[in-house]
Amino acid sequence: PPDGAVLRTAGLAKTYGGRTPVEALRPLDLEVGPGETFGLLGPNGAGKTTLVKLLLGLVRPTAGEATLLGRPVSDADARREVGYLPEGHRFPPFLTGRETLDLFARVGGVDADRRARRAPALLDLVRLGGAADRKVGTYSKGMLQRLGIAQALMNRPRLVFLDEPTDGVDPVGRREIRELIETLRDDGVTVFLNSHLLSEVERVCTRVAILKDGALVREGTVDDLTRVGRAWRLLTTPL
Ligand code: ATP
Repeated sequence: PPDGAVLRTAGLAKTYGGRTPVEALRPLDLEVGPGETFGLLGPNGAGKTTLVKLLLGLVRPTAGEATLLGRPVSDADARREVGYLPEGHRFPPFLTGRETLDLFARVGGVDADRRARRAPALLDLVRLGGAADRKVGTYSKGMLQRLGIAQALMNRPRLVFLDEPTDGVDPVGRREIRELIETLRDDGVTVFLNSHLLSEVERVCTRVAILKDGALVREGTVDDLTRVGRAWRLLTTPL
């Protein structure tokens, strides 16, 4: 990755305790540079969400460290410059899109001025301008995810984490989210995208890593990974 990593981990690891401890993330060294669209691929349970939560300081590592924009993830200032679309994000159905965006931004400490200035542009960016005054309960899954992305962008972050943004979204909605990610990339925003679908990340990501059982099994450009994907499919598809 280019100089001045936006995100860096060194030996970052997480074991969840309990009767049978789970090694959700094995010691990981990773760097993501400015402007990259980084795809983290892996089946459910591979540790993708755990990694994102560690990077956001929402989960405490068992070992190792992580920095965002050159600062430890425990630094509140670093976190404020980062956007996050959690997996399986939910919104109350009885507010409009506009009210929802405003409410969550207010709860997130965004001042009224910035909320008023940013909301219309954000709603347009995620193509919800025309639906902004409809109740969120009438939105499709794709629209809800786009609203969640608008929310994640409220603070003009330089880095955005999107955890399975197209999960449960129909093909048209997936394309819209993909186009939105491309827009972010063109605007120079660094995107960290979690997905369990190669087809999803291969279209938008500049670099991809594959996580399996908490370990990074492969990392490279999309071309490298697509070759691996094809070889893997050839090997596993019965003739
Ligand atoms: P998914 O897409 O289903 O979220 P994932 O790749 O994001 O999958 P994680 O959610 O990070 O995977 O989970 C990794 C492993 O850690 C799984 O075995 C999961 O059961 C376990 N795990 C996750 N959170 C906890 C927790 N709070 N306590 C105990 N185990 C957990």
